[in-house]
Amino acid sequence: MYEEKGKASMPYVVTENCIKCKYTDCVEVCPVDCFYEGDNMLVIQPDECIDCGVCEPECPAEAIIPDTEPEAEKWLEFNREYSEKWPNLTRKKDAPADADEFKGVSGKFEKFFKAEPGTGNPE
Ligand code: SF4
Ligand code: SF4
Repeated sequence: MYEEKGKASMPYVVTENCIKCKYTDCVEVCPVDCFYEGDNMLVIQPDECIDCGVCEPECPAEAIIPDTEPEAEKWLEFNREYSEKWPNLTRKKDAPADADEFKGVSGKFEKFFKAEPGTGNPE
């Protein structure tokens, strides 16, 4: 896909804070439906993201950050890669029953990341 070099805009990215939390509050507010669903987390397609920022405060796990933050750099390619492998999610679904227990836990990527896709929008 064609990518603009030196794109001036700043997409938002999902970090490992989402893993096993996956509250999905974010997908309902995204005006361009650019969230994609893995088995236990979501990612943002950075080229589709219009950098509006409305999803960031909606996330109870503080998993969404703008790519102006230094920590975002390592998540940007990750979000791009998995948004191309996982199904689009535009409607909120129930969070995992134990989501609150994993909120704020560190090192979730090493311990819990799963590359399998989620199931996408509920019927
Ligand atoms: S609201 Fe936050 S924790 Fe929930 S799915 Fe979106 S990014 Fe993940
Ligand atoms: S910043 Fe806006 S466009 Fe980008 S993922 Fe969040 S809600 Fe969607």
